[in-house]
Amino acid sequence: MKNNLRMCPRCQQITSIMPISDIYFSLLENKITDEKLKKLSSQQKKDLFKFLNPPSFNRRPIWNILPPDILFGTLILLLVFSILYGYFESRISLLNGTIPLGLVLIFYGAIRKKLQNTFNKKTKDQQEIAAALSLKADEWSDSCYCFTDQVIFHPKNEKIFTLSEFFARMHPEDAV
Ligand SMILES: [Zn+2]
Repeated sequence: MKNNLRMCPRCQQITSIMPISDIYFSLLENKITDEKLKKLSSQQKKDLFKFLNPPSFNRRPIWNILPPDILFGTLILLLVFSILYGYFESRISLLNGTIPLGLVLIFYGAIRKKLQNTFNKKTKDQQEIAAALSLKADEWSDSCYCFTDQVIFHPKNEKIFTLSEFFARMHPEDAV
């Protein structure tokens, strides 16, 4: 078992450690089989669960994900339909509809470049965030907790974090 190769960089123990993903999921599913976890008080388990919360994606609103052209195209389609509807149902002159439509198109043409740039920048930022997040997710799944020292460490780089430090590292947006 590969877990046996890991040991706590602080107390040099193997038996006092456990991968944090194992802790998190056994607490999540309330299937606690490990003796070290069983010994904890319910408050300690609660705290541990809270601090070991894995990093998660921030949900983007849907209008932030859709390219501006698609959003705008949808708007234009709706406008065209309502103009045609007005024409066929109430005999409203097509001209009444096409003038605002033309104005909207001209307006969009003027701001399209700017919207496109903003959208591209946002998309790029999001990709960078996603890449950073995937690194974090890897770190989360590789990290172990030492019950003796109450610290989290990464078996490869041996960096040591307290629970709150680790939480802040995984959730910089929630850290105070
Ligand atoms: Zn230790």
